[in-house]
Amino acid sequence: MSEDYILKVEHVRKTFGGIVALDDVVMGVRRGTMTALIGPNGSGKTTLFNVIAGVYKPDRGKVYFDGHDITGMPPEKIYHLGLVRTFQIPRMFKGMTVYENVLTAARNNPGESYAKSLIRSIWKRAELGIANKAVDTMKLLKILHIAKNLSSAISGGQMKLVELARGLMSDPKMLLLDEPAAGVNPTLAHEIFKFLRHLRDERGMSMLIIEHRLDILFDYVDYVYVMHRGRIVAEGTPEEVSENPVVVEIYLGE
Ligand code: ADP
Repeated sequence: MSEDYILKVEHVRKTFGGIVALDDVVMGVRRGTMTALIGPNGSGKTTLFNVIAGVYKPDRGKVYFDGHDITGMPPEKIYHLGLVRTFQIPRMFKGMTVYENVLTAARNNPGESYAKSLIRSIWKRAELGIANKAVDTMKLLKILHIAKNLSSAISGGQMKLVELARGLMSDPKMLLLDEPAAGVNPTLAHEIFKFLRHLRDERGMSMLIIEHRLDILFDYVDYVYVMHRGRIVAEGTPEEVSENPVVVEIYLGE
């Protein structure tokens, strides 16, 4: 595996009964890039995310992350290696405030050892560190002003930002982002992508992004993979992909 790639998917196949959801998928994400995964509904994007994140074991093929063979590894172990996933529909505790939701994302960190938490002084210091980090992360995402609001009482766009903040609490090396701009207005969608670009430029973070809003997506990503019927049918820069007749046909025929 080339050192250049933080994520590498090699000849992955995944079937559900008679349905071939992923058929010999070969792709990768270069370190420090924003890479997109696009394709019509049912083309296999979510299944590929699930295989990468450890939810599904592929029937064939390999997945490598940051030098580790993570094929078939349980999700919490993959998370622990620094690969974090965010969901299209934000997953948070509705009865908690935004701040508590961001805080618990760190507390739920499977990397936190129980033994350590028993030692009170270390525990206290760690708690303070986590609290400061939650505040810094909320500041960065410009959601500090809603920190005390119940997460059930914030807008859909704000929920997307809280979901991102939760994802960042474990200091991931790479984010798997499932439609980070779904259902938000264009201004906020651009803000979200600018923030992701900031993470790439300032922290060298790598990202694989599923997003249907290609007009916005293509302004920000470095590289694009196009899926169709379980296969990668095209790849390249946003310019190359948008001029590719195969891609144009897939989208016109949708
Ligand atoms: P996308 O995310 O691009 O919309 P999916 O990965 O969700 O595509 O789906 C790819 C194909 O696999 C579809 O034909 C879908 O019906 C099928 N599929 C996905 N998950 C399952 C499952 N758990 N059981 C059966 N079929 C599935």
